[in-house]
Amino acid sequence: MTPALYVHIPFCAKKCAYCDFESHAGRLSDADAYISRVLDEARTRKGEYGISSVYSLYLGGGTPSLLTDAQLSRLTQGLTQLFPPAPGAEVTLEANPGTLTPSFLKTARRLGFNRLSLGVQARQERLLRMLGRIHRFEDAASAVSMARDAGFQNISCDVMNELPGQTPKDLTETLDAIIALQVSHISCYGLILEEGTPLHARVMQGELALPDEDTASALNLLAARLLEENGYHRYEISNFALPGCESRHNIVYWTGGDYLGLGAAAHSFMRRERFANPGLDEYLSGVSRQDAYLVDEKGALEESILLGTRMTRGISLTDIAVRYGAQTEQALRCKAQELKGLVNVHDGCLSFTQEGFLLHSALVAELVSAVENAVGA
Ligand code: SF4
Repeated sequence: MTPALYVHIPFCAKKCAYCDFESHAGRLSDADAYISRVLDEARTRKGEYGISSVYSLYLGGGTPSLLTDAQLSRLTQGLTQLFPPAPGAEVTLEANPGTLTPSFLKTARRLGFNRLSLGVQARQERLLRMLGRIHRFEDAASAVSMARDAGFQNISCDVMNELPGQTPKDLTETLDAIIALQVSHISCYGLILEEGTPLHARVMQGELALPDEDTASALNLLAARLLEENGYHRYEISNFALPGCESRHNIVYWTGGDYLGLGAAAHSFMRRERFANPGLDEYLSGVSRQDAYLVDEKGALEESILLGTRMTRGISLTDIAVRYGAQTEQALRCKAQELKGLVNVHDGCLSFTQEGFLLHSALVAELVSAVENAVGA
């Protein structure tokens, strides 16, 4: 089998104010032990699944760019010996613009990384400070230039929208500035306010206010329009790319392909089974693979509706008919007809319109319930 491979690096220079990912500030002294543990886990999973090569490799975090050149080399060489990337595979390194050096980028290129994903988030100093980011926009611009000098051509930037106090002018300035960097891929994610984070506390105390629903919709539509006008086509609800530069690794998640996640809190989906690793301390003590469960037919259908409709190409109704039967396909077609303007059926695929994307969760719930009613689940 040739799954996508994700490896999580749970170390950060400082915890961002909105972050509830598995990432820890002040724990870099554990990095060497962590790398050894990841390589042990890699050997176990290789034996278990008989993996001879991987479709893609994604080193994410946390902040992988906090590793030293030597640590990045030991980890990557160990991984690629066990799991050689298939010819032409996408090999991505996630980086924080505040932590990159030319030497690290050159090492990464030499090790085979051919795609860089940078967390830029915003152009405005006040928004970056509110988010608790350690970098300024200028650091992101110079990171892109350093990455090009090191030989990276495929560069992605993450942007956040729906931020407290973010105006349409702010988002336009941010996107214009990133478009001017001529990167090949832009992800534009809405802020998810996670309980327990400092940003959540500030919003709860009334110190900051999230944009209302109309403003949030306006920001999303503005981002999609601006990016599409500049040649970045929307291929997923939050992802835009120049032609041919869509993230092949991430498409595996949205299309129900197999992926193996190594490292603290990494999630996997292998042979229809989902499982996840524990947080850093438990992981370092040798525990892995918790909460495993097999996705049954009903769960698989719900997942393909939930994840497949994130993509602009949508889900193939022909495939749905083959796998789940004509009744399910018909139920989806009928509901799509009722939701015309928000849901399209075109070339045998069911997909959401730009306006539909704004109501993604509600539309998924409608489609799932239409199928359940039709097949009596
Ligand atoms: S850099 Fe990313 S993973 Fe690290 S604290 Fe910030 S948002 Fe979280």
